[in-house]
Amino acid sequence: MPTTQIREVAAARRLDNVRYAIRDLALVADDLRRQGHDVLYLNVGDPNIFDFWTPAHLIEAVHKSMRDGKNGYAPSGGTKEALEAIGGEAARKGITSVQDVFVTSGVSEAVDVGLAALVNPGENVLTPRPDYPLYSAVLSKLDLPVTTYDLNEEDSWQPDLDEIRRRITPRTRAIVLINPNNPTGSICSRSMLEQLADLARRHNLVIFADEIYDKLILDDHSRHLSIAAVAPDVPVVTFGGLSKNYLAPGWRVGWGIISGEATAVKPYIEGIHRLLRSRLCANHPEQYAIKPALEGPQDHLLEVRKKLRSRRDLTVKWANSSPRLSCVPPGGAFYAFRKIDIP
Ligand code: PLP
Repeated sequence: MPTTQIREVAAARRLDNVRYAIRDLALVADDLRRQGHDVLYLNVGDPNIFDFWTPAHLIEAVHKSMRDGKNGYAPSGGTKEALEAIGGEAARKGITSVQDVFVTSGVSEAVDVGLAALVNPGENVLTPRPDYPLYSAVLSKLDLPVTTYDLNEEDSWQPDLDEIRRRITPRTRAIVLINPNNPTGSICSRSMLEQLADLARRHNLVIFADEIYDKLILDDHSRHLSIAAVAPDVPVVTFGGLSKNYLAPGWRVGWGIISGEATAVKPYIEGIHRLLRSRLCANHPEQYAIKPALEGPQDHLLEVRKKLRSRRDLTVKWANSSPRLSCVPPGGAFYAFRKIDIP
């Protein structure tokens, strides 16, 4: 028997502020369940644990790719077929100045790579509040500060432009825009996108445009607009993936589309690809679902939107029938949060 005592293995200090509220809370709920309490989990944005199913033609495409032997490593940036399909999707989104496309293990990894390749110690990135915790978790992991700007409830949860102006400093490198937004479900107007793009232009900011819910627009009269389409000259990384629109979060397939002026974004693209090579590649067989997803039948979306719309309407009706509650109806995505005022 060795005589020295094994010491506790401390986690790195930079993890102290890494939180992921949604999944951290699930641990508390698990404890309660173990104690015998009945817990109704409504907390994780996974459509597949409710009554949504991955479209069959996508499952078939992944199955076929495995049978066809696509089980080795993929190219670091993504398979040719996937990159072409995402390029086509960018064109349909009206993004005319695409300079690069890359595939990742979910949008989560694309965000991680996009931030790590851009931000130096001492610099900051503006993230929306209320937040989707991925951004603050990645920034904390990189030992970077979390600098928020408010989404304004009085203005249907649109970004508060005055606050953004106040928060920008010479050390601000980027601004995160989640549109449609998680958690609020708000959708940005063209005028809001133009004003944000103008701020980015004037302060040399990269825009991280998280558009993972761009096909989950609940009202027929409403339309999603990409900020990269509105501002072809501004450096924008537009994120998308299969997790939400295509109901396959477990496949971990996401991507980034980099647009802007070619010479301006060139060094950043090189940095991103250096990181992409260092982690080898994203999941390989699942990338074969990207082309059929983006170019094949979209019928499932009609059904998904119909279900989400009726659930949204029910939730809003219930909230607005209570004298103590009120609710701005979400226009996209699939979330509803109870607001708790803590005095
Ligand atoms: N971005 C937003 C706004 C999300 O809501 C989510 C998941 O809930 C993600 C990114 C993560 O997506 P992925 O599953 O592709 O990593």
